[in-house]
Amino acid sequence: MTKTNLKGLTQKALEQFILSVGEPKYRASQIYQWLYKYRVSSFEAMTNLSVSLREKLNEAATIEQFSVAASQTSNVDGTVKFLYELSDGKKIETVLIPPRITAVDAEERMTLCVSTQIGCALDCKFCATASMGFLRNLTTSEILNQYITAQTFSEKPITNIVFMGMGEPMLNYDNVMDAVEIITDQNGIGLSPKRITLSTAGYAKHIRKMADEDRKIKLALSLHSLRDEVRSDLMPITKKFSVEDLLSALEYYNKKTKKSVMLEYIVFEGVNDTDQDVQLLVKAARRLDCRVNLIPYHSIEFTHPQGYSAALHGVSKEGLERFWKKLRMNDVITFIRHSAGVDIDAACGQLAVKNELAIAH
Ligand code: SF4
Repeated sequence: MTKTNLKGLTQKALEQFILSVGEPKYRASQIYQWLYKYRVSSFEAMTNLSVSLREKLNEAATIEQFSVAASQTSNVDGTVKFLYELSDGKKIETVLIPPRITAVDAEERMTLCVSTQIGCALDCKFCATASMGFLRNLTTSEILNQYITAQTFSEKPITNIVFMGMGEPMLNYDNVMDAVEIITDQNGIGLSPKRITLSTAGYAKHIRKMADEDRKIKLALSLHSLRDEVRSDLMPITKKFSVEDLLSALEYYNKKTKKSVMLEYIVFEGVNDTDQDVQLLVKAARRLDCRVNLIPYHSIEFTHPQGYSAALHGVSKEGLERFWKKLRMNDVITFIRHSAGVDIDAACGQLAVKNELAIAH
């Protein structure tokens, strides 16, 4: 008999499992708390269950664990990159990011950047994950285990989760949302939805779906250009959902959820850094309830980029500040994102399991 992995089951799914093995429903709540609140790794540790139930669970079920294949810590800012090995031998990366010492909430904040897929099919030209191609979606259990395992290594509680690691979360929507449900449930992991951000490359349909389902987490869009022709070069997904499709989906999201969105923008030299780009961004920002996050470009040289990717360069620090000033002068709420983990290839856009790069070099 194939055993059921209970890690990753929502409260409802766990109830169904418990009823299927002939146990009363209330047992599901107890097991749910052991799995996610106390995060135990064996049924033996679930001490308020009878010995016979624990034996039954051992026969019918498992609790998936992760093994850390490797980890690297940045000498510059303390960022930790984990390489996790999954049960089928595939590997993913997850990044634990301490706050900047100068941050107002430096004492309490600890952010985890979580992956949702192994590799990615969307082929954004500035992203290392794209060079892996798409291997598969992560299960809910694998999404949760990134947090659960990283928490055992972190000296401080992880307070924030960003779905900005490997993969496009909207293309693994159901598993990601089940994970979010467990992470934000007070009987589960118990983080506030306000501390969870999902970033999409631009699945307009799913942005509307998130709004319709009244998801409480925060939404970010990897925008990078408001000109379809430029954005298509940078992010081929633009051929499926145009910039206008995205802006109108975000307007819908703003209206329906009354929540603001984050627009992420890497400023590339000679590509999306002109005054016209500033004006288009200002115009878009005026249509939306949003903030703009300018992101320094992080080199993906280690993936040996070719063609358009190879020609991409970030603007200088001064160029980034000039771009920021122009947006601020137009009353756009704009921040420059602090880069973390650059020295260990763990910064934004740099995640890729090196021995699984689709392009062999
Ligand atoms: S930026 Fe995100 S969506 Fe684009 S290729 Fe990388 S992981 Fe995929």
